[in-house]
Amino acid sequence: MLDRPLQLFNSLGRELQEFNPVVPGRVGLYTCGLTVYNYAHIGNLRAYLFTDTLRRVLQWKGYDVNHVMNITDVGHLTSDADEGDDKMELAAERRGKTVWELAEFYTGAFEKDLVALNILAPSVWCKATDHIQEMIAFARRIEDNGFGYQLEDGLYLDTSRVSDYGALAQLDLEGQQEGARVETKEGKRQASDFVVWRRSPEDSKRLMEWHSPWGVGAPGWHLECSVMSIKYLGHHFDIHTGGIDHRQVHHCNEIAQNEAFLGRGCSAVNYWMHNEFLTFGEEAEKMSKSTGRFLRLATLVDWGIHPLAYRHFVLMATYRRPLEFSFEALVAAKNGLARTLRRVAAIREEAGEVAGLELAAEVRFTQGGPLSYLLEQWIEPLSEAARGYVERLDESVSRDLNTPQALAHLGELLADDALEPADVLRLVAIYEQVLGLGLLTTAAADLNLRPAAASLASSEVDALLVERQEARASRDFARADEVRDQLQAEGVLIHDSRDGTTWEWSPRSD
Ligand code: AMP
Ligand code: ZN
Repeated sequence: MLDRPLQLFNSLGRELQEFNPVVPGRVGLYTCGLTVYNYAHIGNLRAYLFTDTLRRVLQWKGYDVNHVMNITDVGHLTSDADEGDDKMELAAERRGKTVWELAEFYTGAFEKDLVALNILAPSVWCKATDHIQEMIAFARRIEDNGFGYQLEDGLYLDTSRVSDYGALAQLDLEGQQEGARVETKEGKRQASDFVVWRRSPEDSKRLMEWHSPWGVGAPGWHLECSVMSIKYLGHHFDIHTGGIDHRQVHHCNEIAQNEAFLGRGCSAVNYWMHNEFLTFGEEAEKMSKSTGRFLRLATLVDWGIHPLAYRHFVLMATYRRPLEFSFEALVAAKNGLARTLRRVAAIREEAGEVAGLELAAEVRFTQGGPLSYLLEQWIEPLSEAARGYVERLDESVSRDLNTPQALAHLGELLADDALEPADVLRLVAIYEQVLGLGLLTTAAADLNLRPAAASLASSEVDALLVERQEARASRDFARADEVRDQLQAEGVLIHDSRDGTTWEWSPRSD
């Protein structure tokens, strides 16, 4: 029943296109990973949530996905346009650590963030510094094929030799060349030419450098992604992802290198996909590590926002629209997810045992395999009406990963009294495969994190609530109100109902 074609927005051409894989049934997917000179910020994590959704949808559509992601631990300069210092070296010097220590520490922190967000681990993680010799071999072939030229500071790629340089960015090359006459590096043939191998200056020693035919030095940043994507996914693969900033320079340069390596007209990748930014503040500024204006996932947790609430917040928007961060919106996303989880728990109680549900909750996509075998098992017992919701999910995500629409359908099915509770749960299991919100493994209470700024311990809150209860029983309402006000001032939300009193932490960003 799920044979609707998958439509994806290809940045190359800027249009929705029907997805057709190079090899039937299989997808090669490459994602530009983190530059590990600092923690990932929640903007970066939006990029990985986007790729995770893409991967889950591909598996939903029945593909076997080979997902490769790199870790950038060399070569990324403070400016994407080949200027400035290497971000890794700069950070290592500032902190008095080696580059390797820094990379290991931030890679570990990044992996923890991915796990907390339910982002599936890639099939292959690869580190730039583990591929230096392959990068040298790749660059040598670029030169042998006549696409390179040497300047004093290294090997450059002549972008005029590439068939359509800048097509991905829709670059105004003429305008760029004009600008180039005013300020470009001496000897560069075109302003758009870029460094493939950077030679270390004679008088200084870099923290990371290697011997090469172009002298001792380090690879340009763009080289690593060309080399590792082609190494692990072959000369022709399906999808390459990254944030929208990569569309302008990094990915154009990858395409140029690929063509210089593979031959004219062969750029290796069929679909280029980019997520828009997470922005914040009045100026809708891009959240960025280099300006230091950014939030980490750990900061949200300190505020009392669960990582899955952030996942929910991101999925409530489509990946191709800029998403404005606000604390209020985040709290709303947390409350929305808590409502959903409470509803799932109530239905679970009503339905009792449902065969296959535990299996559904445990499914991990580690192998990247297609979901078809599971789906058949889950869809088969569904009523006609319930199947309609599977169709709706498929329709939403097949149209360029429309997660807000999928979430809306989840809300509808949870409120649909005409469905059997067991069918609702099977549907939740099916939606979970694509949304990854922990719908069957997380309880609403798990989202209730204690903000770091809260001065009371949970046990103290409990004790105060007992005191309030006693004051009420002895009709000392003044004392009862006093306790309630004190708790509220401490960021504790109290809910009184006929069944008793419950409470939760209210997230706070102060
Ligand atoms: P970097 O560590 O700078 O290489 O970035 C890692 C990924 O995060 C890349 O795909 C970037 O394009 C992406 N990215 C950076 N800033 C943001 C942001 N504010 N919103 C969304 N994605 C971002
Ligand atoms: Zn990259």
